[in-house]
Amino acid sequence: MVAIVTGGSRGIGKAIAEGLLKTDYSVIITARNESEDIRKLKESFEGKVFFVPCDISVEEDRKRLFDFAKSNFGKINLLVNNAGVAPRERKDILDITPEDFDFLTDINLKGTFFVTQELAPLLIKSEKSRIVNISSMSAYTASVNRGEYCISKAGISMITKLFAARLAEYGVSVIEIRPGIIETDMTAKVKEKYEKLIAEGITPINRMGQPEDIAKCVVSIAQGNFDFCTGTVIDCDGGFNVRRL
Ligand code: NAP
Repeated sequence: MVAIVTGGSRGIGKAIAEGLLKTDYSVIITARNESEDIRKLKESFEGKVFFVPCDISVEEDRKRLFDFAKSNFGKINLLVNNAGVAPRERKDILDITPEDFDFLTDINLKGTFFVTQELAPLLIKSEKSRIVNISSMSAYTASVNRGEYCISKAGISMITKLFAARLAEYGVSVIEIRPGIIETDMTAKVKEKYEKLIAEGITPINRMGQPEDIAKCVVSIAQGNFDFCTGTVIDCDGGFNVRRL
């Protein structure tokens, strides 16, 4: 079994890659840069880890990823669309520029859409395959100081539905995972703020999530435990999604 994990060099993507490697999956990890963590994974799981440099917002890079997967494996069983960025600077939606908007949506939204479109032929070649899209609680939560991020994640929810509808006939199911507040490089700068909110009860489960919390969901999907589900959303967020009164 072969998986591609975008943005697998650290954080949530790295935990997902590691979780899959502990099962019967080989994993093609992509990111812009090969990290020390990837080199360690290559040592620990000899022969099962492949790294392809790929900025998902760059067409030639996506093509290189497709060519690598096609020439080495011919097909893939799982695509995990995890690569994503936060805004370079948090700015009020009254102040963000078209450049701020394009920077973020080119990666998170357009990049994710075209990675999925371009790798679809390799997923279709497997008798049964799965796509997991890592969106966010920001898909439905308005943060006015990072609106372009929220828009990109809301768009991933529609990417999930579109490809679920389009690819079901080929045995490809598509599931969206919405992480809550997860402790990674992405949240490092705002860790104190989030820890305070959690201590005050913003999430029913009283802790920050760990990358492994998301990885466990992905591994379960990868093992076929959700095969009658498509277009489905999993909130992996300590209960942030629960409205309370
Ligand atoms: P992270 O620690 O910052 O890791 C991001 C990963 O994406 C890295 O491997 C990075 O590697 C890669 N990446 C960044 N830009 C890329 C690009 N243009 N092309 C390809 N790869 C790229 O972030 P994380 O917290 O693990 O987040 C992973 C995903 O979960 C993101 O989509 C994020 O929006 C989502 N998420 C995170 C949280 C959270 O609380 N942490 C919550 C909800 C959703 P390079 O820099 O080497 O490219």
